[in-house]
Amino acid sequence: AKDKEFLLNSIRNIYDFPKEGIVFKDITTLLNNKEAFNLLMTHLEDRYKEYNLDYVAGIDSRGFIFGAALADRLNVGFVPVRKKGKLPGTTVCEKYELEYGFDEVEIHLDAFNEKKDARVLLIDDLIATGGTANAAAKLIKNVKANLVEVCFLLNLTFLDGKKRVEEHANVYTILDI
Ligand code: IMP
Repeated sequence: AKDKEFLLNSIRNIYDFPKEGIVFKDITTLLNNKEAFNLLMTHLEDRYKEYNLDYVAGIDSRGFIFGAALADRLNVGFVPVRKKGKLPGTTVCEKYELEYGFDEVEIHLDAFNEKKDARVLLIDDLIATGGTANAAAKLIKNVKANLVEVCFLLNLTFLDGKKRVEEHANVYTILDI
Protein backbone atom coordinates (compact mmCIF):
# COMPACT_ATOMS: atom_id res chain seq x y z
CA ALA A 1 0.00 0.00 0.00
CA LYS A 2 2.89 2.34 0.82
CA ASP A 3 4.56 1.39 -2.45
CA LYS A 4 1.38 2.05 -4.42
CA GLU A 5 1.05 5.46 -2.85
CA PHE A 6 4.67 6.22 -3.72
CA LEU A 7 4.09 5.20 -7.34
CA LEU A 8 0.87 7.18 -7.57
CA ASN A 9 2.57 10.26 -6.16
CA SER A 10 5.33 9.95 -8.74
CA ILE A 11 2.76 10.44 -11.54
CA ARG A 12 1.85 14.03 -12.37
CA ASN A 13 -1.52 15.49 -13.41
CA ILE A 14 -1.45 17.90 -16.34
CA TYR A 15 -4.66 19.88 -16.62
CA ASP A 16 -6.26 20.67 -19.99
CA PHE A 17 -3.96 18.35 -22.01
CA PRO A 18 -4.31 17.42 -24.86
CA LYS A 19 -7.44 19.57 -24.76
CA GLU A 20 -9.48 21.60 -22.32
CA GLY A 21 -11.24 19.69 -19.55
CA ILE A 22 -8.94 16.63 -19.68
CA VAL A 23 -6.62 15.74 -16.80
CA PHE A 24 -3.68 13.93 -18.39
CA LYS A 25 -1.75 11.42 -16.28
CA ASP A 26 1.91 12.15 -17.04
CA ILE A 27 4.16 9.17 -16.32
CA THR A 28 7.40 10.94 -17.33
CA THR A 29 7.79 11.94 -13.67
CA LEU A 30 7.71 8.26 -12.71
CA LEU A 31 10.31 7.41 -15.36
CA ASN A 32 12.77 10.11 -14.34
CA ASN A 33 12.51 9.06 -10.69
CA LYS A 34 14.89 6.09 -10.44
CA GLU A 35 13.34 4.77 -7.18
CA ALA A 36 9.82 4.85 -8.65
CA PHE A 37 10.83 3.32 -11.99
CA ASN A 38 12.84 0.61 -10.27
CA LEU A 39 10.02 -0.17 -7.82
CA LEU A 40 7.55 -0.54 -10.67
CA MET A 41 9.82 -2.75 -12.76
CA THR A 42 10.69 -4.99 -9.80
CA HIS A 43 6.99 -5.39 -9.03
CA LEU A 44 6.29 -6.39 -12.64
CA GLU A 45 9.28 -8.72 -12.78
CA ASP A 46 8.18 -10.49 -9.56
CA ARG A 47 4.68 -10.99 -10.90
CA TYR A 48 5.56 -12.18 -14.38
CA LYS A 49 8.69 -14.26 -13.78
CA GLU A 50 6.44 -17.27 -13.00
CA TYR A 51 4.27 -16.84 -16.12
CA ASN A 52 6.60 -18.58 -18.57
CA LEU A 53 6.17 -15.80 -21.09
CA ASP A 54 7.75 -15.90 -24.54
CA TYR A 55 7.17 -12.23 -25.39
CA VAL A 56 6.06 -8.93 -23.95
CA ALA A 57 4.06 -6.79 -26.41
CA GLY A 58 3.82 -3.05 -25.74
CA ILE A 59 1.31 -0.51 -27.04
CA ASP A 60 2.52 2.66 -28.84
CA SER A 61 4.14 4.58 -27.27
CA ARG A 62 4.38 4.48 -23.48
CA GLY A 63 3.76 0.74 -23.49
CA PHE A 64 7.11 0.46 -25.30
CA ILE A 65 8.98 1.91 -22.34
CA PHE A 66 7.59 -0.42 -19.68
CA GLY A 67 7.24 -3.35 -22.06
CA ALA A 68 10.81 -3.28 -23.33
CA ALA A 69 12.24 -2.84 -19.84
CA LEU A 70 10.16 -5.78 -18.58
CA ALA A 71 11.02 -8.01 -21.55
CA ASP A 72 14.69 -7.48 -20.82
CA ARG A 73 14.24 -8.30 -17.13
CA LEU A 74 12.35 -11.49 -18.02
CA ASN A 75 14.84 -12.42 -20.73
CA VAL A 76 12.12 -12.63 -23.42
CA GLY A 77 11.52 -10.80 -26.70
CA PHE A 78 9.67 -7.52 -27.13
CA VAL A 79 7.03 -6.84 -29.82
CA PRO A 80 5.65 -3.36 -30.59
CA VAL A 81 1.98 -2.75 -31.37
CA ARG A 82 2.12 0.50 -33.35
CA LYS A 83 -0.15 3.19 -34.64
CA LYS A 84 -0.93 2.78 -38.33
CA GLY A 85 1.81 3.33 -40.90
CA LYS A 86 4.87 2.98 -38.66
CA LEU A 87 5.83 -0.69 -39.00
CA PRO A 88 7.93 -1.46 -42.09
CA GLY A 89 7.11 -5.14 -42.65
CA THR A 90 3.88 -6.93 -43.54
CA THR A 91 1.31 -6.13 -40.87
CA VAL A 92 -2.16 -6.98 -39.69
CA CYS A 93 -4.31 -4.05 -38.75
CA GLU A 94 -7.23 -3.39 -36.41
CA LYS A 95 -9.47 -0.33 -36.51
CA TYR A 96 -11.10 1.05 -33.36
CA GLU A 97 -13.42 3.86 -32.49
CA LEU A 98 -12.34 7.04 -30.73
CA GLU A 99 -14.53 9.75 -29.20
CA TYR A 100 -14.37 11.48 -32.58
CA GLY A 101 -13.50 9.19 -35.49
CA PHE A 102 -11.27 6.12 -35.76
CA ASP A 103 -7.72 5.02 -35.21
CA GLU A 104 -5.79 1.91 -36.21
CA VAL A 105 -3.11 -0.23 -34.61
CA GLU A 106 -0.84 -2.73 -36.34
CA ILE A 107 1.47 -5.62 -35.56
CA HIS A 108 3.99 -7.45 -37.73
CA LEU A 109 2.39 -10.58 -39.14
CA ASP A 110 5.50 -12.62 -38.30
CA ALA A 111 6.19 -11.04 -34.88
CA PHE A 112 5.71 -14.28 -32.92
CA ASN A 113 6.71 -16.76 -35.64
CA GLU A 114 9.80 -18.01 -33.84
CA LYS A 115 7.62 -19.66 -31.19
CA LYS A 116 4.49 -21.75 -31.77
CA ASP A 117 1.54 -20.68 -29.54
CA ALA A 118 3.78 -17.98 -28.06
CA ARG A 119 2.78 -16.90 -24.56
CA VAL A 120 2.37 -13.13 -24.70
CA LEU A 121 1.82 -10.40 -22.12
CA LEU A 122 0.36 -7.15 -23.48
CA ILE A 123 1.24 -3.97 -21.60
CA ASP A 124 0.40 -0.25 -21.69
CA ASP A 125 0.69 2.63 -19.26
CA LEU A 126 -2.98 3.40 -18.90
CA ILE A 127 -6.45 2.06 -19.70
CA ALA A 128 -9.24 4.58 -20.26
CA THR A 129 -12.11 3.34 -22.47
CA GLY A 130 -10.20 0.16 -23.30
CA GLY A 131 -10.55 0.77 -27.05
CA THR A 132 -6.83 0.74 -27.80
CA ALA A 133 -6.04 -2.33 -25.70
CA ASN A 134 -9.08 -4.15 -27.07
CA ALA A 135 -7.80 -3.64 -30.63
CA ALA A 136 -4.25 -4.62 -29.63
CA ALA A 137 -5.54 -7.80 -27.95
CA LYS A 138 -7.41 -8.74 -31.13
CA LEU A 139 -4.22 -8.30 -33.17
CA ILE A 140 -2.27 -10.65 -30.94
CA LYS A 141 -4.98 -13.29 -31.29
CA ASN A 142 -5.20 -12.73 -35.05
CA VAL A 143 -1.55 -13.65 -35.46
CA LYS A 144 -2.22 -16.86 -33.49
CA ALA A 145 -0.33 -16.04 -30.34
CA ASN A 146 -1.57 -16.93 -26.86
CA LEU A 147 -2.52 -13.74 -25.01
CA VAL A 148 -1.86 -14.68 -21.38
CA GLU A 149 -2.63 -11.37 -19.65
CA VAL A 150 -3.04 -7.64 -20.26
CA CYS A 151 -1.34 -5.28 -17.81
CA PHE A 152 -1.68 -1.55 -17.12
CA LEU A 153 0.02 0.74 -14.65
CA LEU A 154 -3.06 2.97 -14.35
CA ASN A 155 -6.77 2.19 -14.65
CA LEU A 156 -9.23 5.08 -14.97
CA THR A 157 -11.98 3.03 -13.31
CA PHE A 158 -14.81 5.50 -14.00
CA LEU A 159 -14.53 4.71 -17.74
CA ASP A 160 -14.98 0.97 -17.13
CA GLY A 161 -12.62 -0.02 -19.96
CA LYS A 162 -11.31 -3.11 -18.15
CA LYS A 163 -14.50 -5.10 -18.89
CA ARG A 164 -13.96 -4.82 -22.67
CA VAL A 165 -10.42 -6.13 -22.50
CA GLU A 166 -11.42 -8.96 -20.15
CA GLU A 167 -13.24 -10.55 -23.09
CA HIS A 168 -9.79 -11.47 -24.40
CA ALA A 169 -7.69 -12.24 -21.35
CA ASN A 170 -7.20 -11.60 -17.66
CA VAL A 171 -6.50 -7.93 -16.94
CA TYR A 172 -4.08 -6.80 -14.22
CA THR A 173 -3.95 -3.16 -13.16
CA ILE A 174 -1.52 -1.78 -10.59
CA LEU A 175 -3.13 1.55 -9.70
CA ASP A 176 -6.94 1.97 -9.85
CA ILE A 177 -7.97 5.59 -9.78
P1 IMP B 1 -8.30 4.05 -24.31
O1 IMP B 1 -8.13 3.44 -25.66
O2 IMP B 1 -9.49 4.97 -24.24
O3 IMP B 1 -8.32 3.02 -23.22
O4 IMP B 1 -7.04 5.00 -24.07
C1 IMP B 1 -5.84 4.47 -23.66
C2 IMP B 1 -4.71 4.95 -24.52
O5 IMP B 1 -4.64 6.37 -24.49
C3 IMP B 1 -3.40 4.44 -23.99
O6 IMP B 1 -2.52 4.10 -25.05
C4 IMP B 1 -2.87 5.58 -23.15
O7 IMP B 1 -1.46 5.67 -23.22
C5 IMP B 1 -3.53 6.81 -23.75
N1 IMP B 1 -4.02 7.74 -22.71
C6 IMP B 1 -5.28 8.16 -22.51
N2 IMP B 1 -5.37 9.00 -21.48
C7 IMP B 1 -4.13 9.12 -20.98
C8 IMP B 1 -3.55 9.84 -19.87
O8 IMP B 1 -4.20 10.55 -19.10
N3 IMP B 1 -2.20 9.67 -19.69
C9 IMP B 1 -1.45 8.89 -20.49
N4 IMP B 1 -1.97 8.21 -21.51
C10 IMP B 1 -3.27 8.32 -21.77
